[in-house]
Amino acid sequence: MKKINRRTFNTKLGQGLAGSVLLTAMPFACGMSNANKKLGIALVGLGGYSSGQLAPALMQTEYCRLAGIVTGTPEKEKIWMDRYAIPRANVYKYENFDEIAKNKDIDIVYVVLPNSMHAEFCIRAAQAGKHVICEKPMAISVKECDAIIAACKKAGVRLSVGYRMQSDPYTNEIKRLVREQPFGAVYYVSSDAAYISSGNPDQWRLNHSLSGGGALMNMGVYAIQSNIYGTGQNPISVSAQEFSTRPEYFKDTDETITAQMEFPIGAIGNLFTSHNANANRLFVSFERGWAELNPCNTYGPLAGRTSEGKEIRYPHQSQQKLQMDDFAKHILLGTPNFAPGEMGKRDMIIVEAIYQSIREGGKRIALNLGEMGIVKV
Ligand code: NAD
Repeated sequence: MKKINRRTFNTKLGQGLAGSVLLTAMPFACGMSNANKKLGIALVGLGGYSSGQLAPALMQTEYCRLAGIVTGTPEKEKIWMDRYAIPRANVYKYENFDEIAKNKDIDIVYVVLPNSMHAEFCIRAAQAGKHVICEKPMAISVKECDAIIAACKKAGVRLSVGYRMQSDPYTNEIKRLVREQPFGAVYYVSSDAAYISSGNPDQWRLNHSLSGGGALMNMGVYAIQSNIYGTGQNPISVSAQEFSTRPEYFKDTDETITAQMEFPIGAIGNLFTSHNANANRLFVSFERGWAELNPCNTYGPLAGRTSEGKEIRYPHQSQQKLQMDDFAKHILLGTPNFAPGEMGKRDMIIVEAIYQSIREGGKRIALNLGEMGIVKV
């Protein structure tokens, strides 16, 4: 494969930036001033993430609001209606969910279900004419990602993946250092995304048919994302290894995976993901320095520093608030979609390549992603 050397890359990067355009689209027409309308979001699946993060964040959002719920657990209906002043008319079960098509109070459906259910509910949401946010990982296969993207395209609705880090200021500072190169070009990037899983061994995350995979599907997508924004490029190859130290607990899904990536610029990427270790770090090594975030993708507060001894620090904000407001602004005002469906699909291509490499004894798998899923701002 023809490689671009660093000098050529720097020149191309410079040209790309000079001529870069916002990835905008015409904002959706609304009868009223777009800037004044808060879009109604319906959460599908009221588990830990919806109740612990998304619903509280929707109490702070400026461009969207919690308008409805879709749940398979009848006992949750009244609790959520009371807590968030949700009218009965905006409460759905999985079975009658498609009736949401008639509900003008709901603009966006946010799918927060086990991974294997994302495709079905995102497609049904699109067919109901609603914009879609799909939690990460986007689905459990590239084929399913394609089906979601096609359904949204056909319905003319916008699609975003729940990649909250794409709206986070710490992540965006790393992207800036990569783009503006105050320390020169990137030579090496390393990202860890892992936690120790415990508790019920029958939980859906450890059940392959519901999760599609273990640590890689759950936390690994963050490490893939970090490698990509830590270099500003998509990888051109991946090689991977799997380790299992608690096979009696992780019976059905991967426990620990390491992977190495090559990037067109010549940089090397390293990735560690596990359900049996605690690690949450991004390290980017440049020609003349480095930057580190540790932690890099917890709910925050995050922390960062550079080789100049400078702290990377921002006032703590809800990442979920920033993420959902960014998507609502994309719909209302035509600002960029920072986590489009193509980004989720690209990451699933890399996930599938990592699993393929493991099956083939760590073989180097070539990737041909081009600029897929890279959002230029
Ligand atoms: P959870 O187990 O806490 O909740 C899952 C919800 O799905 C529950 O309300 C449950 O009743 C419902 N459900 C419906 N059918 C089910 C089935 N067959 N088995 C199990 N549950 C079923 O999970 P969660 O942590 O809320 O995760 C949901 C999604 O959100 C996942 O895709 C996950 O990857 C994603 N997530 C993203 C983040 C993030 O930071 N972006 C954080 C946590 C979870």
